[in-house]
Amino acid sequence: MFPRDFFVRPLAKRVAGAAGGAVAPHPGVVVPDGVRLFVPDLIRRKRDGGELSAVEIGALVSAHAAGDVPDYQMSAMLMAIVFRGLSADELVAWTEAMIGSGESLDHSGVPGAKVDKHSTGGVGDKISLCLAPAVASLGVRVPMISGRGLGHTGGTLDKLEAIPGLRVDLSAGEARSVLERAGLFMIGQTDRLAPADRRLYALRDVTGTVESIPLIASSIMSKKLAEGIDALVLDVKVGEGAFMRDEERGRELARTIIGIGEAAGVRVKALLTRMDRPIGRAVGNALEVREAIEVMRGAGPPDTVELTRELGAEMLVLGGAAESADLAREAISRALEGGAALEVFARLVEAQGGDPEAVRDPSRLPAAAGRAEVTAQRSGFVARIDPKAVARAALEVGAGRRTKEDSVRPATGVEVLVGVGESVGAGGTLAEIHHDGVGRDDAVAIAAGAFEIRDAPPEAVPLVLGRM
Ligand code: URA
Repeated sequence: MFPRDFFVRPLAKRVAGAAGGAVAPHPGVVVPDGVRLFVPDLIRRKRDGGELSAVEIGALVSAHAAGDVPDYQMSAMLMAIVFRGLSADELVAWTEAMIGSGESLDHSGVPGAKVDKHSTGGVGDKISLCLAPAVASLGVRVPMISGRGLGHTGGTLDKLEAIPGLRVDLSAGEARSVLERAGLFMIGQTDRLAPADRRLYALRDVTGTVESIPLIASSIMSKKLAEGIDALVLDVKVGEGAFMRDEERGRELARTIIGIGEAAGVRVKALLTRMDRPIGRAVGNALEVREAIEVMRGAGPPDTVELTRELGAEMLVLGGAAESADLAREAISRALEGGAALEVFARLVEAQGGDPEAVRDPSRLPAAAGRAEVTAQRSGFVARIDPKAVARAALEVGAGRRTKEDSVRPATGVEVLVGVGESVGAGGTLAEIHHDGVGRDDAVAIAAGAFEIRDAPPEAVPLVLGRM
């Protein structure tokens, strides 16, 4: 075994010791911040189950972000991590290195606790849209940085942009002013926030190295911790429509994220929630905004209301705005039913350049030119609605993206008209496809395959599977 400091020993000394002279260029050597590493040896060490020091990890991640470590070396390191994992210390160092590659937001001058929510991604997941205003209306600040949709899950930013005029690309100064005025902001990730993660994520996407719990956890937390929050509520989706298909892996991800939060002094509470059917009825950007507005008018589908209430209650408790989860749930219900959440949402929309009247009068939101029905082949009870098939149907009509570069059609999507457990007659309408003339027939066929109809109703299952 090499001595522990071998890889961080300045190159000049190593080469001088070995060759007795000048520093020779070597493809495996990088020089970030004066620390010199021999990257192939780091890869070998990780591959063989050894541990990397915080200095080594910091240097490696920042050198890769700066373009000084080539993608082929980082790919090998990522694959070694997929197989060997990261120790608790390595994980913290890896996350810190990604945060340190960019800037962090500082909201310390804004009074009140700052609490965010992160969902690992679901189909029809519009919860942030109604949750953040409800929580902000109760005195907890919500600085929310979200992503765009890719693959079968939608992104909060695409949904928000369905509101005419609304901007999500705010500068740090603009975001802070919105936070002060509206009590929350909902924006996209800037180039300056955890840029190392952006580069690593793109690399993981094309090298089969996304599915690693420490890499997922550090990726999520590098962005969340750079937001300048005091606490975070995590919605880990579990099931066939989710990233984490089984509950045990969902729990492991939650445990890992909670550990990173603890090390950073940020409290994290996680809910494991079921993702075996679309959330609510709407899948598609403007359709989901409409549904979120319904929830903020005290109506909306029961599962969407339940998730908003459960996650919102955790945020209130973490933010010190409620003494118990029960009182917090009641407060969220009041904010939704009494109009306070909707008022804050209208304020947010206006502060981010959007049309607040579209919140008060959703007929001002974009509407698709055409609708097509998806009908039942037989009568019975809806036993299952495959969330991925519904998402694929929405993708056919342009509601989602196949590649990062695609743009979305804001008005299109799928409206599911019957829920799991409900009865339907032969020829009855199961769903409606909202389309702009593109992808209609394929979407109808795909959506029809999403519904399984049986003679007997399925057993009712809880939406919240666990709390950590
Ligand atoms: N979301 C992230 O931000 N990063 C991952 O690695 C996976 C999901």
